[in-house]
Amino acid sequence: MAFPACLPPRRADLSRPAVMRLVHRERHAVQRIGWLRAAVLGANDGLVSTASLIVGVAAAGVGRGEILIAGLAGLVAGAMSMAAGEYVSVSSQADAEKADLERERGELAAMPEAELEELAGIYAARGLDHDLAMQVAQQLTARDALGAHARDELGITDVASARPVQAAFVSAATFSAGAALPVLVAAAVPAAVVLPAVALSALVGLGALGGLGAAAGGAAPLKAILRVVFWSAAAMAVTAGVGRVFGVAVT
Ligand SMILES: [Zn+2]
Repeated sequence: MAFPACLPPRRADLSRPAVMRLVHRERHAVQRIGWLRAAVLGANDGLVSTASLIVGVAAAGVGRGEILIAGLAGLVAGAMSMAAGEYVSVSSQADAEKADLERERGELAAMPEAELEELAGIYAARGLDHDLAMQVAQQLTARDALGAHARDELGITDVASARPVQAAFVSAATFSAGAALPVLVAAAVPAAVVLPAVALSALVGLGALGGLGAAAGGAAPLKAILRVVFWSAAAMAVTAGVGRVFGVAVT
């Protein structure tokens, strides 16, 4: 027996007119994949960028003090950048939704008949016969015309969903949590093994986050773990190589 979550995407979405699907195609990741997966992605970013930074600096042959300064600076800079990017992205989405709703409100006031036909057309395109589509459109319009158009024409399901400040804080916090691991490891282990210890602990942490993210999204964990470990190892190897070359060139 198939569970609802295993069913393919509903055909209703595919049958919407292309132009309507385009209007709100760009939903923010936080809403699309849920808070847990967004948090996992933030921590993943913090871990891989800060661990790569520390590995690169350590490969250049500098002391632990410089390594820790670089790691902390990377943590703070990354958290600020994530917060700012998230704030701008979620704000502009909220602005776009607000503008769409205002335009819709105006159209509903100016030409209610055409808007009713439009709504009925949407339901007909989703598979209702013409009379039933008109009946549904009439009843939904009588109850909450703007709500029906927001949901079924614009694809705005939760008008109050975008919270820019909250999204910015969550991004900064999850990035910092991921970035803290390599910084703490670099501070704790003997100076001689900072590079391998940070690289190894980062790969273990990234694998765990990859498995958690896959489980949250209903995907196969092992594949996700292998993928994230491989690409993270590649990222750190590249930075270590650059760090070594740069360290040799500078000293
Ligand atoms: Zn409309």
